[in-house]
Amino acid sequence: MKLHCEVEVISRHLPALGLRNRGKGVRAVLSLCQQTSRSQPSARAFLLISTLKDKRGTRYELRENIEQFFTKFVDEGKATVRLKEPPVDICLSKANSSSLKGFLSAVRLAHRGCKVDIPVSTLTPVKTSEFENFKTKMVITSKKDYPLSKNFPYSLEHLQTSYCGLVRVDMRMLCLKNLRKLDLSHNHIKKLPATIGDLIYLQELNLNDNHLESFSVALCQSTLQKSLRTLDLSKNKIKALPVQFCQLQELTNLKLDDNELIQFPCKIGQLINLRFLSAARNKLPFLPSEFRNLSLEYLDLFGNTFEQPKILPVIKLQAPLTLLESSARTILYNRIPYGSHIIPFHLCQDLDTAKTCVCGRFCLNSFIQGTTTMNLHSVAHTVVLVDNMGGTEAPIVSYFCSLGCYVNSSDMLK
Ligand SMILES: [Zn+2]
Repeated sequence: MKLHCEVEVISRHLPALGLRNRGKGVRAVLSLCQQTSRSQPSARAFLLISTLKDKRGTRYELRENIEQFFTKFVDEGKATVRLKEPPVDICLSKANSSSLKGFLSAVRLAHRGCKVDIPVSTLTPVKTSEFENFKTKMVITSKKDYPLSKNFPYSLEHLQTSYCGLVRVDMRMLCLKNLRKLDLSHNHIKKLPATIGDLIYLQELNLNDNHLESFSVALCQSTLQKSLRTLDLSKNKIKALPVQFCQLQELTNLKLDDNELIQFPCKIGQLINLRFLSAARNKLPFLPSEFRNLSLEYLDLFGNTFEQPKILPVIKLQAPLTLLESSARTILYNRIPYGSHIIPFHLCQDLDTAKTCVCGRFCLNSFIQGTTTMNLHSVAHTVVLVDNMGGTEAPIVSYFCSLGCYVNSSDMLK
């Protein structure tokens, strides 16, 4: 029985000697071996750790020799086996979690002196080819190279499968828990499974040139919130992104070119880490008011169907304010937490999409809406011209919660 993972063997004497471990594992093949001899009829069990440098490996006796198992993070492919003699901690990481669980239970049996039912390995050196399972990068750019019968190496951190005619995301990819970069560009993918959000280390997702029509709320609320930095959704058929999209707060690089976007998510200003934004050749008529809060290095909005700012504002003021309006304003202004477990879901949606007045307060249904132009250089260092006329100005919507706010900022609208 074998396990491929990263291993670090730490002597528990090190701290006493004032030394520290390196804190970094090396790729290794672990084998569970049994040996019977005439003098000792009961089988002796060993853990053999082989690395590329040491293919013969180092043996550790297992029988009644394990002090403790640490398995809190076994689902993330990590565990530690503490031996009595020698006094070492064998730290395993980057393993396939189900293989790790199987291996650990076999090790546990060997420790107890039970017979291990699974085939155990012999004490022979590990072949170099076995270490190929540690591949961290795989690039496939044609259908004929796409693995149909073989699994992807579990250790992959960077996987590209382009021009493979994929119509959906291969479930085998979603088991690659170490993935940091997934490139599925130039396929025919229509929908993304929510389980992409289980790839907890995923930093870069490239879906350029597919058939996507949406990006789901479930994905926006997954662990991608903590990991995703770069997202390429260009050349798809996306008309709008959900308001929750702005919860992907680690995003620094977002590409939305060549879609059918008719609006940006209204809370786009919440993407505080965003530095590179391109949404060229979409159908944006104007920018949301929160666009002003962005702080970008690069912005490309070329070829959108920007409208001329309207001279007359849209007035939707209520007098007096409805109970809903007043309470919504109060909740948002005082940052009172809300959620669908307390109030109806549609009210949560209303609150999520509330408009922000230039005064910083919020409004739901009672507001004055005006459009003005903004120079895109006020939010980005480098701006690609928005049209062939050399302009860097784009129409932006502004909201006013009261007549007073409108009059005070009417200079802005001129
Ligand atoms: Zn106001």
